[in-house]
Amino acid sequence: MRRAQNIIAQLSTTAMMASAMSTRAASLCSGGGAVVGGMVRCHSFVVSSQRHLHVCRAYTALAASSHALVTPSTRLIYAASPALEHDWPGHPESAARVPAILDELAARGLTPKALGPALVQLTDVPAAADDALRLVHTQQYVDGMSLVSERRAPCLYDADTFLQKSSWQSARRGVGAALALVDAVVNASRQHLAPAGFALCRPPGHHALPHSAMGFCLLSTAAVAARHAQQVHGLRRVLIYDFDTHHGNGTEACFANDPGVLYISTHQQNSFPYTGALTDVGTGPGEGATVNVPLPGGSGDAAARAAMEQIVGPLADRFRPDIIIASAGYDAHWRDPLAGMMWRDSTYHCICSSLRALADKHCSGRLVLLLEGGYDLRGLARGAADSFAALLGLPPGESDPDEKALLPEPAEGVAKVIAEARAIHGL
Ligand SMILES: [Zn+2]
Repeated sequence: MRRAQNIIAQLSTTAMMASAMSTRAASLCSGGGAVVGGMVRCHSFVVSSQRHLHVCRAYTALAASSHALVTPSTRLIYAASPALEHDWPGHPESAARVPAILDELAARGLTPKALGPALVQLTDVPAAADDALRLVHTQQYVDGMSLVSERRAPCLYDADTFLQKSSWQSARRGVGAALALVDAVVNASRQHLAPAGFALCRPPGHHALPHSAMGFCLLSTAAVAARHAQQVHGLRRVLIYDFDTHHGNGTEACFANDPGVLYISTHQQNSFPYTGALTDVGTGPGEGATVNVPLPGGSGDAAARAAMEQIVGPLADRFRPDIIIASAGYDAHWRDPLAGMMWRDSTYHCICSSLRALADKHCSGRLVLLLEGGYDLRGLARGAADSFAALLGLPPGESDPDEKALLPEPAEGVAKVIAEARAIHGL
């Protein structure tokens, strides 16, 4: 009990420090703490002392069952983990996000019912076990957050990040969806099938650190998925492309000194979390395996395409990944209220088509996208639907007539950043 109290005290101290330092949209979180009646189920998992063996067995079984759904005509496998009870009044990372995407997919006929075996949904995906979380997160953090959710929620972890009683379990379910899709995609590739995977999961993950939540994120979903791909499936080289408009400081921190994970981020300059400088390239043996491309505000479709063609593609050709994981944020969309980028719906179609081509070229089609940010429901839903279309080999949806009013991009600033990134990384 004393240990548990210490963990809560330390987490609270960390949260207070983070709160004091946070500069991001604190007012967005001031809506008060309405209690949501989520069930607390944090201790309902059996944890094996034989950690990796347990993970391997659990996920091999899951992969076997999910693989049965996949046919040669399957182009995309997805799972939805909408975390409906993980919500806070007035907060942009809302429970409406995943339903908005699912509604848009249904409206466009991008459903298994409409498309048949080309699109497969994984259902009844289990939450990630503690063993999987500890591939990235500290024991103290995993134990501590379980206790904080159970005893303190609803509460603010920091000025940006809320906790309801269901939140820890929601985050674990989101990671579980990501891992299930890694399993499904890897196992399909071993049968010479090449579907991509997309986890429509909440909360987002790329700001979460090994020892701390941060910036709406509780668990570092992409990082856990990358380690899982390496340790459970024996894949050596993982490429993570993070196209959320914010730098994925948490993901980067997990792999800063690891040459086996190439982390590439395009993000808006001088925005939360104020990390991700061009000159941050990794440390020690990981030097060069962190690639940051901080784009100027107002960057749009041309900037995204240039970054893909001139940085992500050439780096993938040089790194030759065994799997590609994408942190798929939709807050660089021009409609987003938290950022100042100008990506269009079809920008996401282009990015996802390119990622699919890179995965086909280098790693037998192994590509898994994980939902990160995106806070305008219309922009989020349309961008995600165009991503689905691209991964299914279908054209983008009709363009949004409001896009005609977008301002010109800062072409000179974009070209300068891309040239600098290419020079730093020897491209
Ligand atoms: Zn973001």
